[in-house]
Amino acid sequence: VMGQMMDQPLLISGIIEFASRHYGAGEIVSRRVEGDLHRYTYRDCHQRARRLANALHGLGVRIGDRVATLAWNGYRHLEAYYGVSGSGAVLHTINPRLFPDQIAYISNHAEDQVLMFDLTFLPIVEKIASQCTFVRHFVLMCDRDRMPDSTAIPDLLCYEDLIASHSDQYDWPLFDEHSAATLCYTSGTTGNPKGVLYSHRSTVLHAYAAAMPGALNVSASDTVLPVVPMFHVNAWGLPYAVPLTGARMVFPGAALDGKSLYELFESEQVTFSAGVPTVWLGLLNYVLQNGLRFSSFRRTVIGGAACPPAMMDTLMDQFGVQVIHAWGMTEMSPLGTTGGLQTRHLALSQSEQRKILQKQGHAIFGVDMKIVDDDGKELPWDGVSYGHLLVKGPWIIASYYKQEGGDVLQDGWFPTGDVATIDADGYMQITDRSKDVIKSGGEWIGTIDLENLAMAHPAVQQAACIGLFHPKWDERPVLVVVLHPGMNVTRAELLQFFDGKIAKWWTPDDVLFVDALPMGATGKIQKNKLREQFKGYQLP
Ligand code: ADP
Repeated sequence: VMGQMMDQPLLISGIIEFASRHYGAGEIVSRRVEGDLHRYTYRDCHQRARRLANALHGLGVRIGDRVATLAWNGYRHLEAYYGVSGSGAVLHTINPRLFPDQIAYISNHAEDQVLMFDLTFLPIVEKIASQCTFVRHFVLMCDRDRMPDSTAIPDLLCYEDLIASHSDQYDWPLFDEHSAATLCYTSGTTGNPKGVLYSHRSTVLHAYAAAMPGALNVSASDTVLPVVPMFHVNAWGLPYAVPLTGARMVFPGAALDGKSLYELFESEQVTFSAGVPTVWLGLLNYVLQNGLRFSSFRRTVIGGAACPPAMMDTLMDQFGVQVIHAWGMTEMSPLGTTGGLQTRHLALSQSEQRKILQKQGHAIFGVDMKIVDDDGKELPWDGVSYGHLLVKGPWIIASYYKQEGGDVLQDGWFPTGDVATIDADGYMQITDRSKDVIKSGGEWIGTIDLENLAMAHPAVQQAACIGLFHPKWDERPVLVVVLHPGMNVTRAELLQFFDGKIAKWWTPDDVLFVDALPMGATGKIQKNKLREQFKGYQLP
């Protein structure tokens, strides 16, 4: 017997249609590349997204075609999120921090028909335009008066002219919710980047789950500032989850330094934000150095890399900002787990509670996970046994775009490449990425623990732990450290700092002080680069 409910596909256009109709006056504030702050509403966004849909149709874009963006977080990018996917085309968000050759490779692999980009990226696009063989139209997302007088890009269109010349009368088409909606490439630390093709259904379900109280807990009384870029796994789903709840949105554009972010947090009274640890490092440094306070900021989600406990403590204890530690990956849309306490934890001491919040969190509904040993045998949820982390769910990848890499699932589960424990209450803790784990004398040493400990030292700003060759043990851990400006600690002092906090044989063999760590396109430390840099280094 079938249920007797309406058959309405879960489509991305439904989100902006809802926000426009039910939270029409809800505000979207954007710091623009042009320099000023732009303000408009969900109703305006919906109207301009419909103009864009008509304009794209006029350019010959049809259902399933790829339209790429190279853009910061801003209102025009949001219009592309809805105008492109809503009309049935596929939005391909490209990370502008990749090397130009990688951008061209990705654009060709995706066969992008249109490339829309912010003013900041004009020089990149001028450089690669001739290599992007599938692109028929280049669109610069800026005001008419900021268009360049001359450019090497053929027939460069102005976004504002383009949408102004089209009607806002447009009915979002209805189609199968399993249709492709957006495309995002993994950063490809090894080999060429691979495409992850999200569907309308996976995106809408992920947005529902992301907004829930146990997850990011977004509501209409929030002002949300996504620092995580819209070119990095769809800003963790916030461009969908925020309009769906009617929350106010604030986009930081290109100004991601501590000072600019702080000023925007304050002037727009931001309550909730999201970003990788390095972003919070910049913001916290600025706020601490200048003795500032946050007047509205209450909650933030930190993920993409392990949130150092010291950072969580500073935000929670000094600034009263609740930290939600989250874990996920491009292949998971990206959310898998989020931190938070259960009723049974409320009676625990603050330090015991903090230990729970430091873990990567609890599965959100829609995601199932398990840990297995090298033979694929499932391991117990005891918080101690660690193994390969596998996941499944309706917003988790089944195969890469164009079947790159072949069959990636193991018995219907996606292997994440992470190593983790799961405790009896269902909290998962990442020990390491399997490719970063240090194998010392046949035993594993997790690098995240060591980095977290090092960063708890007041002089240490950033730390990365890598395994270097050792003639007897195969590999031994070495800490690569960036100190806070004006602060000092010696190798011996830092190593002594580990005493009693960790098994003796886990203690790093050496500390290497550097001015900066190599950062990847998504703001994460590139350990493969570090390993290359220190290859052949003689351990003491
Ligand atoms: P890439 O894998 O190319 O860096 P992703 O953004 O998809 O791009 O990264 C996903 C990976 O980032 C995860 O598999 C995991 O190793 C790491 N990661 C994400 N969130 C966390 C976290 N909270 N703690 C530790 N590692 C994390």
